[in-house]
Amino acid sequence: MITSPSKHILLTPEMTPADKPFCLECNEIADLKVERLQPVPVLLGKASEIIVTCNKCSKSNTFVEVQLDFEGIPVPKFPLGNIVTTRGVIAEIPLLDTMKALLQYSQGDWGILCDEDKAANDAALRDGDRILAAYLDRNSTKFWIITEWDRSVTTLLLPEEY
Ligand SMILES: [Zn+2]
Repeated sequence: MITSPSKHILLTPEMTPADKPFCLECNEIADLKVERLQPVPVLLGKASEIIVTCNKCSKSNTFVEVQLDFEGIPVPKFPLGNIVTTRGVIAEIPLLDTMKALLQYSQGDWGILCDEDKAANDAALRDGDRILAAYLDRNSTKFWIITEWDRSVTTLLLPEEY
């Protein structure tokens, strides 16, 4: 039997795949208010934030639904390897903000670096050195993205986790 892969992936704030939105506090799946925000471009297609508010415990959590589109997306300028996100980034940075930054990063937009460091990354693209870029999330919390010189691993981390 041939099954085609799903075009949608729903992720909890901790980046765990989920079948449908649920309350992370009490596991409620029925009594929820679900609000979907405008999709934005990300590395694998487009992603929408889904704000899930539980009517039982009134906790709100933000899920992210990725609509995979491998044809419509820009090609990364360099291989990212395995993408690893630290605990600190998962806890502090909204998932969609990390996804948006990864798209920028893959296109050679180095975020909030000074011109000298941006030029060093441009040179690293040519020479095969390590790449390090810095971004701010919606709350102005800074995080870094680093790709090792052999392009095997890309890590998203907080500066204090370095
Ligand atoms: Zn709840």
